[in-house]
Amino acid sequence: MNSIKICPLSSGSSGNCILLFIGEVKVLVDCGITGKAAECELARAGVNPKELSAIIVTHEHIDHISGVGIMCRRYRLPIYATLGTWKAMINCIGKIDPLLIRYIASEVPFQINGAQFHPFSTSHDAAESIGLVFSDGEKYGAIATDLGTVTKHIFDLLLKCSIIMIEANHDEAMLLSGPYPRHLKERILSDCGHLSNKLCGALCAKLVREGALRKIMLGHLSSDNNTPHLAYETVKNSIDNALCCNAGDITLFVADRYSMKEEIGD
Ligand SMILES: [Zn+2]
Ligand SMILES: [Zn+2]
Repeated sequence: MNSIKICPLSSGSSGNCILLFIGEVKVLVDCGITGKAAECELARAGVNPKELSAIIVTHEHIDHISGVGIMCRRYRLPIYATLGTWKAMINCIGKIDPLLIRYIASEVPFQINGAQFHPFSTSHDAAESIGLVFSDGEKYGAIATDLGTVTKHIFDLLLKCSIIMIEANHDEAMLLSGPYPRHLKERILSDCGHLSNKLCGALCAKLVREGALRKIMLGHLSSDNNTPHLAYETVKNSIDNALCCNAGDITLFVADRYSMKEEIGD
């Protein structure tokens, strides 16, 4: 049986919500979809929302928080977020019982019912955004979407992870030739924006070669500047080139935009 598992319920600018299984513990990372959609996708994943222990929020952008308040109130789920994220989202998620507010800080590990988390700060253009490494005490996984750029520190943290959900946001050529205004293109390409397919591929190839990475879920694809096929092929080519001929051991999926389709576990 898998002891850690990443199960994306929805991924992309229309809404992000990821279900994590860490031993017996189940948590949501972000809930940028309606409560109804979250319940529906949880059911598809075989999980009753009452079994959830918490929602961890990576940052306050609307595609990550629109359903957080509803799920919190409906199932009395504690919400874990950094102080900066709390300040930025508190007026956008409705009334929250103060007893359900939990503060976390980047680089300060915390536990939820025995599941271990190590939040790390990201350079994404939000108040105090984080990515997450999580563990059942034996195996490690990571959520690394809305990264902007990958520092040496983040890379070192990801080395021990065997499963990862990572952003392959855009194809650079599609973004540059597409309809977005110049300032938006520049923001997306900057260190405060998102990882391109190419940067994601280079990172995955390095993690596969130098670290424990074996299963990859690509997510947070732009609907205007990317396609699942392009993201998959770009990252696969990078890994194939880095490994010469052993890429058969590596599992690579693209998370579905609206629904729970594939999951990865270890
Ligand atoms: Zn964001
Ligand atoms: Zn986002």
